[in-house]
Amino acid sequence: MEEKNSTNISQARPLIGLTLEQLRQVAAECCLPRFAAGQIAKWLYDKRVTSVEAMTDISKDGRRRLTEAGYTVGREEPLTTARSADGTVKYLFRGVGGRDVEAVYIPDHERATICVSSQAGCKMGCTFCMTGRQGFHGNLSAAAIINQILSIPESEKLTNIVFMGMGEPLDNMEALMPALEILTAKWGFAWSPKRITVSSIGKLQALQQLLTHTKVHVAISIHSPFAAERERLMPVERAYPIKEVVELLRGFDFSHQRRLSFEYTMFRGVNDSQRHCRALAERLKGLDARVNLIRFHAIPDSPLSPSDPDRMVEFRDTLNALGITATIRASRGEDIMAACGMLAGKQKQG
Ligand code: SF4
Repeated sequence: MEEKNSTNISQARPLIGLTLEQLRQVAAECCLPRFAAGQIAKWLYDKRVTSVEAMTDISKDGRRRLTEAGYTVGREEPLTTARSADGTVKYLFRGVGGRDVEAVYIPDHERATICVSSQAGCKMGCTFCMTGRQGFHGNLSAAAIINQILSIPESEKLTNIVFMGMGEPLDNMEALMPALEILTAKWGFAWSPKRITVSSIGKLQALQQLLTHTKVHVAISIHSPFAAERERLMPVERAYPIKEVVELLRGFDFSHQRRLSFEYTMFRGVNDSQRHCRALAERLKGLDARVNLIRFHAIPDSPLSPSDPDRMVEFRDTLNALGITATIRASRGEDIMAACGMLAGKQKQG
């Protein structure tokens, strides 16, 4: 584990994480011309500078006023790094509420993906998840989300961003929506929304908002086709029944451009039978969606264990035969505990 010192994002007024409209307010506050907002955005998200001083087309006086008002770029390096033999790298960033958060870099042939966190801990309480066990400690700001993407050493190589780290992204819309705007706007990173996936348990109202106002891909955690069994794995089934989530999704078009997928973590003897498989196919019938079957990374003190690889292959093949495109997601970084929340959990235990 490599350790590094870092300043705290929350101590200053970070500029990263601000939208063009918010930067216009900063420009007005610091008596800069309105067009300076676009210049600052370019320095932050295109040229990726690390100091206000480096924004050389902002007048010297303007930069001084920004600094005196407490504005900094707000970049913060990871606190620690853990490298897997398979190339996966897990970074720990300072979070909120005294809890650190994780970002994972996953190289895979021509793809280079970062999995980012949106909250310190999580309220959703999924019984198979280390983050869920830690409880909720606070929402990350848009700056803290964007910082994960900008401040890993592989930042310039990234081809994809997935919001699948710690926390439920749709439980932090105040930061998620500006972060997505910054990532996709021409004045921001100008990424195609097709390179971004937001994963959710299916928080209904926020999901509707995400689907209406963005074009990013969506991944829904389902884990069981049966409400009562899903509730045992995901207590949020009570508040956001999968039946209603699927109904909501049926109202949107996933036939081109935007992709819908369902995440199905496979637990031995719990949700990996052919009965589950057929019910899952029935539940998703008619939806333009794929299913990602995920091998469970065992977590301490849990009765849950991973399904046998043969069982997963059989499950996948049955889904495909029933007309539901299914793949088994390759397991990455097990030696550095890349499953959600594992590194932060370990840090906390000391
Ligand atoms: S799996 Fe995701 S939604 Fe569930 S507790 Fe963990 S971080 Fe939260």
